[in-house]
Amino acid sequence: MSLVEEPICVVIGRTRHRMVQQEIVEAQELGARFIELRLDFLAKAPDLKRLLEYKTVPFVATVRRGSDGGRYNGPEDARKTLLRQAIVGGFDWVDLETDIADSIPRFGKVKRIVSYHNLREVPKDLEKIYEAMCKQDADIVKLAVKAQTPADNLRVLALLKDAPKPTVAHCMGDLGMPSRVLGGKFGAPFTYAAHNKERGIAPGLPSYLEMKRLYYYDRIGPATKVFGVIGDPVAHSLSPLLHNKAFRAVGLDAVYIPFRVPKGELAAFLQAFDQLPVEGYSVTIPHKEAAAEAADELDPAVESTKAANTLIRRRREERFAPADAPIRRKENRFAAYNTDFSGTLSTLFDLFQLDMGAGQPPLTGRDALRGRPVLILGAGGVARAVAFALVQEGALPTITNRTAERAQRLAEALQARHVDWAARHNVICDLVINCTSVGMHPNIDESPLHPSFLKPGLTVFDTVYNPETTLLVKEGRQRGCKVITGVELFLRQAVGQFELFTGRGAPIEKMSQVIRKALSPVKIRDEEAPA
Ligand code: NAP
Repeated sequence: MSLVEEPICVVIGRTRHRMVQQEIVEAQELGARFIELRLDFLAKAPDLKRLLEYKTVPFVATVRRGSDGGRYNGPEDARKTLLRQAIVGGFDWVDLETDIADSIPRFGKVKRIVSYHNLREVPKDLEKIYEAMCKQDADIVKLAVKAQTPADNLRVLALLKDAPKPTVAHCMGDLGMPSRVLGGKFGAPFTYAAHNKERGIAPGLPSYLEMKRLYYYDRIGPATKVFGVIGDPVAHSLSPLLHNKAFRAVGLDAVYIPFRVPKGELAAFLQAFDQLPVEGYSVTIPHKEAAAEAADELDPAVESTKAANTLIRRRREERFAPADAPIRRKENRFAAYNTDFSGTLSTLFDLFQLDMGAGQPPLTGRDALRGRPVLILGAGGVARAVAFALVQEGALPTITNRTAERAQRLAEALQARHVDWAARHNVICDLVINCTSVGMHPNIDESPLHPSFLKPGLTVFDTVYNPETTLLVKEGRQRGCKVITGVELFLRQAVGQFELFTGRGAPIEKMSQVIRKALSPVKIRDEEAPA
């Protein structure tokens, strides 16, 4: 029998006993089988009996000091007395910081977590600290340190790989998410998750439902393949939800994680995470151009747009065709793709059609785009992918953008027209595509076009997908336009990525359901909310 049967330890920290009791009951109902009570959160002296009354699963007692990220600010002697009371009082586990662990002896069957916390950084001597902790009387050694760079995750995970004692180690903060999720791959006996994420228990601590139903933490093991999204910000990306549900729907042993990577740090990040390895990345703002530069194979869409939203790791044998060919000294062997480009085309091929008058079949697919005047609003990343895709199909885009120089630059690259933002309503077109962020949550009462521009016969394609029914989409429908929503593009670019990641067909229906449920204003369960 292993030391810990349950791979997720659910942390509960509330100021009132009644709330702790309530959360213990709720957590157990949700499936928690291992619970840590943060006694330092209680406003009054802990009444251990009252809390233990509700115990049906193993409980950990923790009384964390302020310097370790906790709320306890009383005398140290009183804290140790409380820990001893918890040990003899019926808790199954006790968490003892490394500096006090030797002063509190083992008692009966109560198991010991010896812990180290650093809320500022990953210290230079982390490995030494860990080595010393492994010599202490611990059933589990725990390290929680604050990541300052994405690569800090790897230092912490490296400790797990050859751990001489069962070890739980992770980085705190939003840069630290990879280590929290990947502990299971490298042998951590469990990870931590909050019952109630709103309580601010530890920086970056995910909720139990996220760990269980978004990352499927209990299924992560040594063979699990790792994928993820690189961006900054990335915390609100829908991609982890979408890809993890898709992996699960087709029964793949894979996990998809958000990687917050600050601007300018992509190359260093790819280099550092090469050792994990990560098999494929979605790439979002602000790294799409840098991703195209970092890869050493570019698909034609990336060649033309100079931006990539997908990186796929290439195996050495695939990369270097003749086995005896000299090996290029490039550590990151990635192929870059742009599924915003391919997704735009498949959206338009599937959904754009042009009425040809009574008795005539509508024009669809390539035929509908060839020679078609299209107005593109915006000149950012999405506009670029959309515009190059349209030009490839022989459409005639006109670019307009709030910042005129950007529109001009994009139009020059495409050899297309551009007009001033103020003149956008004068453009005659059959299709208008909004590639600005106007109308996106939370600015849902804004539209990039005056309603009078919207007439029957015009197709309005809004790439904004949150919300799906933007003001532009709503007004377009009201005024008799055909409408294509950003969810259609979001779905298709994600399907393209899934197929590149896995080499197999995507569960499109499932992915469509997941996106629409996540974007629905009525959230049923919080694991379906954007991660
Ligand atoms: P980006 O590179 O930052 O470009 C943003 C664009 O929006 C720029 O053209 C910017 O104009 C314009 N803009 C911003 N605020 C504006 C305002 N108040 N009035 C007029 N124009 C404004 O971002 P991106 O990656 O292209 O993404 C743009 C939008 O596309 C996102 O917000 C998202 O909703 C949508 N999107 C959809 C998908 C999908 O799969 N459906 C994927 C990615 C993005 P300036 O140049 O003047 O700043």
